[in-house]
Amino acid sequence: MPLATRPHTARPPATAARLALRHARQLSALSGRGFAGLPRGWHGLSDRLLCATEAAGGARFTRLDAAYGCLRVAFEAGERDLVGALVTAAQAEAAVTCERCGGAGLHRRLARRAAVLCMPHFVHLALTESLPPWAVRTWLRAPLASGAPAVSRAAALGSDRAPQVLEQALARLLPPAPRIEALRADAPRIAGVCAHLRRAFGARLHGLRLLPGSGPAERHLGLVLELSPGEAEWDAMIAVEALPLDFDWSCRIECLSPQALAWPGRSADPWLALLARDRGLPVARLLAACGLHGPAATAGPSGAPRAAGGDPGAPAG
Ligand SMILES: [Zn+2]
Repeated sequence: MPLATRPHTARPPATAARLALRHARQLSALSGRGFAGLPRGWHGLSDRLLCATEAAGGARFTRLDAAYGCLRVAFEAGERDLVGALVTAAQAEAAVTCERCGGAGLHRRLARRAAVLCMPHFVHLALTESLPPWAVRTWLRAPLASGAPAVSRAAALGSDRAPQVLEQALARLLPPAPRIEALRADAPRIAGVCAHLRRAFGARLHGLRLLPGSGPAERHLGLVLELSPGEAEWDAMIAVEALPLDFDWSCRIECLSPQALAWPGRSADPWLALLARDRGLPVARLLAACGLHGPAATAGPSGAPRAAGGDPGAPAG
């Protein structure tokens, strides 16, 4: 989906100080922290929310900030149903509004957190969280690696070639591939998970991969379910919920479509898609290295799924 790179709001974004002044009565409970936790790109929609609640008799807000890409709002006084409906509408708008610029955005995952961001700000933030500013500037000024005519990555970000730039940016930042030795202790449990998912999905399960945790120091694993086109994610989630295993090792399970893996820059979670494609550790290879049977040996009767992790580009451990 092409993303607009310009703000969709006609009026200039309200500054935090202007908001605090304009809505001093409703925000009196926030006076200490002000709008410190509210990203700049959401000032405009917050202003509209506060104007609407003021018109509805006013409310006393005790929280107005962002967390994990969601607008967090709490209030004490006011017409609860009416203010609640206005807050819900503002949260829905925030879910598709870039936190940095107020333009059209999507909920996106960065290496260590999530945020609602437009494509240019997602790329910029992904880079600046790991690289010094001069390196980010140099990287963005360089020409896009593929395609003619030559155009800088920064310019391409505003065009329909933005997903290419995004994939290049994420590839630049990907953590090292997980090492089999580090995962060996969890192999028996991984084998159990594989057997259950094979029974639940049969031939519909296209692949299973192991991923490192999202943070550099995290050792927990992620399982990526790569499902058939049109497969409902909730279907997979139900099967995953029924896993007869304890998950005290912080296993994270994600469902990714083959399209997301083929085109990470166009997926809803490009970071995860690229991670799965380039740095996933095929389960079959892990189990073989641990001296266990591969998941194909536990396939259910409903089909004969191909061996998991047939990705020729996957690391050799
Ligand atoms: Zn933006």
